[in-house]
Amino acid sequence: MPATPAYPPHSAPRLFVDVELSDGAEIRLDGSHAHYLLKVMRIKQGDPVKLFDDRTGEYLAHVTTLGKRDLILSIDGKTREREAVPDLWLCTAPIKKDRFNWIAEKATELGVDRLLPVQTERTQNMHIKADKLRFHMIEAAEQCERTALPVLAPLVKLDEMLENWPEDRHLFFADERLHETGEGSFRKALVAHDGPAAILVGPEGGFSDSENEMIRALPQSVPISLGPRILRAETAALAAISLWMAGRGDWSP
Ligand code: SAM
Repeated sequence: MPATPAYPPHSAPRLFVDVELSDGAEIRLDGSHAHYLLKVMRIKQGDPVKLFDDRTGEYLAHVTTLGKRDLILSIDGKTREREAVPDLWLCTAPIKKDRFNWIAEKATELGVDRLLPVQTERTQNMHIKADKLRFHMIEAAEQCERTALPVLAPLVKLDEMLENWPEDRHLFFADERLHETGEGSFRKALVAHDGPAAILVGPEGGFSDSENEMIRALPQSVPISLGPRILRAETAALAAISLWMAGRGDWSP
């Protein structure tokens, strides 16, 4: 006898909606959401859709009314509470557009709480398209089953960020120069530094000498090495997030 299929099927579309959801509510979707469900997914009346709101959690809904350019969903019930997000920020200099979008997408998948674009002396791309970046973060959260979106902070100058740095937050400073000295074990730094954290990664050309000194002068700064090879900025960001998540985040059972 065939096994009863799981309901909702894993393939049920999953969307972020920017309104507070609740059991029994009716939600009208139009614009890109409606286009996706109607034209791409070819959704039918009664089909299940998962929704999350970044406020209260994730819900199962089904389609009650199909229009040409909009549709109405009725929420059946909550499937998950909004998750507790590990307290990790990623502070990183904007790099070329596509690669920065990629960082935003992957940092979302890996579970960061906040993305802070940082303007440094050698930052080449000063034009952050916040709406595009947020779009990539939302798509990543929809796909990876997150129930919370990372906060996207506005672009901040490095010196301003350091001046206003929170007293209780460690700043793991990815410094590629450390591989020459063999110092900066991230593993040891993670053992020694518990609590709220951030990772700081430089632009394609790295930090200048004066920036390096300024970062190190911050008492919360913890210089770390990511191994003997010079990584591209996006690789460094993802490697550092992964190590932190495995040591201090929510990757451990
Ligand atoms: N200064 C170099 C240059 O342009 O010749 C490389 C900069 S690297 C491409 C960009 C950023 O990635 C660095 O500022 C640093 O934050 C991080 N990074 C790359 N490799 C690293 C490593 N092995 N250890 C720590 N951080 C690293």
